[in-house]
Amino acid sequence: MEKDYYNILGVERNATAEEIKKAYRKIAMQYHPDKNPGNKAAEEKFKAATEAYDVLSNAEKKHQYDQFGTSGYQGGSKSYDDDIFEGDLNDLFQDSPFGSFFSSGRRTRRTANRGEDLRIRIKLNLEEVALGTEKKVKVKRYTSCEACGGNGAENGLSVEKCAPCKGQGVIRKTTQTMLGNMLTEAICSHCTGTGSRIKTYCSDCQGEGRKFVEDLITFKVPKGVKKNMELTLRGKGNAPLRGGTPGSLIVQIDEEENDLLKRKGNNICYTLHVSFIDVTLGCEMEVPTIYGKVRLKIPPGTSCSEVFKLKGKGITDINGYGKKGDQLVFIQVWIPQELTKEEKEMLLSLQGSPNFIPKPNKKEESFFDRIKSFFQG
Ligand SMILES: [Zn+2]
Ligand SMILES: [Zn+2]
Repeated sequence: MEKDYYNILGVERNATAEEIKKAYRKIAMQYHPDKNPGNKAAEEKFKAATEAYDVLSNAEKKHQYDQFGTSGYQGGSKSYDDDIFEGDLNDLFQDSPFGSFFSSGRRTRRTANRGEDLRIRIKLNLEEVALGTEKKVKVKRYTSCEACGGNGAENGLSVEKCAPCKGQGVIRKTTQTMLGNMLTEAICSHCTGTGSRIKTYCSDCQGEGRKFVEDLITFKVPKGVKKNMELTLRGKGNAPLRGGTPGSLIVQIDEEENDLLKRKGNNICYTLHVSFIDVTLGCEMEVPTIYGKVRLKIPPGTSCSEVFKLKGKGITDINGYGKKGDQLVFIQVWIPQELTKEEKEMLLSLQGSPNFIPKPNKKEESFFDRIKSFFQG
């Protein structure tokens, strides 16, 4: 039966390569077998779309199909085109959850052709760490050449079958051994396993299939990242020579010190300096947090061993289902360094007063135990 590949992909007959790719990607995402386990109808749709894309994404096959339809085009003649097709699919699925589907399947030799990973280190301030952020970085890297689609051949089409391996990518040899004839298989050295040979090199990339460019890469940093943690941006590393899968860009996190707010795990520590008059009489003070200023009530008679907990003002745990740290406010009583004559006289008049004679209780003695308790669990 005659198949209408355009209809299967839901595109017009004059659709551009980009539109065809987009349409196929949409269908493939929806009906992918990994997403629809056991669903025969979905599998059929996926297969039909893949067949349609196989033909319509290849200029030669498309031309033949447009002229003669499926009866003229025999479909499964396994030629070098498969490799170009596979390269295309790899890059089509490179940021999808089933990125490895095509490379794990029928032809593994393509996966060997993967570009190198690149590494960068970025410095984040405390707000960025706590709230998450979007970063833009300039990275010098190899990207796939657009003119040839990455295969290094003029217009991506000037390719012919590798003669020594007959387009198989491997050379089989029968060797006679003591145990009889043995069939050995080796990757073809003429085409390094691709099965194809370039007739005319792409003039844009001189046949490399890639170009060295300064690329602006935007990515999201999730809440709660830590120093030396690594984010892997798949496909944002170097594109390999002549098609294949680009490597990853590995982003290592560095944290900028904050002058006031110190991170301890997911908690934030802050030291509040209060005059001994204010802690004695009680007061209300402004305290900075990652999420803006909050007012903290300090009750009369607060001792310098007091730690106030601002619940949920810490950092969101990166693995923890919305779990959040707290901000701990440590009270530091300020002792005046200089006194006027009058101030000194006032203090002297209080010196003998019974309420000013230290009477430490259990609470004060266990100051360090208390601090420790904040960092447990
Ligand atoms: Zn090129
Ligand atoms: Zn070969």
